Amino acid sequence: MAHRHVINTQIAILGAGPAGLMLSHLLAKAGIESTVLELRSHQEIAETARAGILEHGSVKLLVDSGVSDRVVRNGDRHDGIELRFNGESHRIDFQDLVGESVWLYPQTDVFLDLAGRRQADGGDVRYSVTDTTVHDLEGEAKVWFTDADGVDFELRADFVAGADGSRSYCRSLIPEAQRKRYFHEYPFAWFGVLAEAPRSSEELIYANSDHGFALISQRTETVQRMYFQCDPDEDVNNWSDERIWETFRSRVNGNGFELKEGPVLDKTVLKFRSSVHTPMRHGKLFLAGDAAHTVPPTGAKGLNLALNDVKVLFEGLDSFYQTGSTALLDTYSSRALDRVWKAQQFSYWMTSMLHTPAEADDFQRARQLGELNAVVSSHHGRAYLAEAYTGWPGAR
Ligand SMILES: Cc1cc2nc3c(=O)[nH]c(=O)nc-3n(C[C@H](O)[C@H](O)[C@H](O)COP(=O)(O)OP(=O)(O)OC[C@H]3O[C@@H](n4cnc5c(N)ncnc54)[C@H](O)[C@@H]3O)c2cc1C
Repeated sequence: MAHRHVINTQIAILGAGPAGLMLSHLLAKAGIESTVLELRSHQEIAETARAGILEHGSVKLLVDSGVSDRVVRNGDRHDGIELRFNGESHRIDFQDLVGESVWLYPQTDVFLDLAGRRQADGGDVRYSVTDTTVHDLEGEAKVWFTDADGVDFELRADFVAGADGSRSYCRSLIPEAQRKRYFHEYPFAWFGVLAEAPRSSEELIYANSDHGFALISQRTETVQRMYFQCDPDEDVNNWSDERIWETFRSRVNGNGFELKEGPVLDKTVLKFRSSVHTPMRHGKLFLAGDAAHTVPPTGAKGLNLALNDVKVLFEGLDSFYQTGSTALLDTYSSRALDRVWKAQQFSYWMTSMLHTPAEADDFQRARQLGELNAVVSSHHGRAYLAEAYTGWPGAR
């Protein structure tokens, strides 16, 4: 066997997404060492557009833990969203209903803030590593990896955090007989468009129509992010700009509202899946973020759940190192899953309420409009949506 350079840490973290970097940051603040191993380069992660909506609890975590206050300086605070159906818009006023807001702030900026803070604080984050394998989870845990210069290492750690995303390798380390996978696939996907156009509205518009769902979102003054419901097997090459705008027009325009159009800069098909893998802990291994669960993007929960997981995990690890008690580590999985399942329900509900199945008959379509009407015409319905969208209180 080739010689491996041995290094020691307290927590070995696989993955430098929001979950891995936030965990490393929180640990460092408490004086707990960690090493983060990441397969991709810093540049590749910084250039991959993904989530964009942060719950108020996620913003508070970024700001209060000292990552950065850029989110409140440069992000857009949104105090509500619009639900649009039957050609009419209905505002869900978050501030009025639950006294909270969300922030529109791209995941790429969350990454830059977290990676920048870790670097400024002298954190050990190694990008572009290869061949990460985990060993001896029952004894002294070890992670083997090859760094960007081709040097082989053995990282010894007290615990391993698998924050390695939806295709998680770490997840497979839990013996099959001891893990359970919950999975749901949806009969539709999102056709995502980045377009050079002025804002059509100040807040997000979630539009349900006979022709399917559309989401009108914003990025900057001149570039906008929008989505429409499509078939999961749709090929972006079959879509000209004109066909794209025609689809949006048929789903959102009307009653005085007209979408502002412009050249399409990027188009992509985003498939939906709901999955939960339990338990989120196996011996010295803890799963966090997409490694343990994924949600369809309709509820904007993925990134927020990842941050919540590591907040809960950090509390367990901090308590262990301060007191020697494993009580909070032992309940990590169930405490994290409590919020995960609420988010699964909310994401599923938003998805099924707003999307139109291709095979929907007249009854199903009329029932769906009845459901939307029931939500917007009820204070309690609007308040449930507002509370779930902005993030349940007592984020833990
Ligand atoms: C196209 C797209 C659009 C999305 N839109 C939204 C949205 O609008 N709202 C929302 O809330 N969420 C959205 N999400 C989900 C959100 O981006 C994720 O929930 C979030 O990134 C989860 O963070 P994470 O740290 O758990 O995982 P990730 O961000 O996926 O990070 C995991 C990291 O682990 C690395 N890795 C993988 N395997 C290994 C290994 N063996 N060793 C070391 N490193 C490894 C990966 O390279 C990756 O960088 C979207 C996701 C996608 C893909």
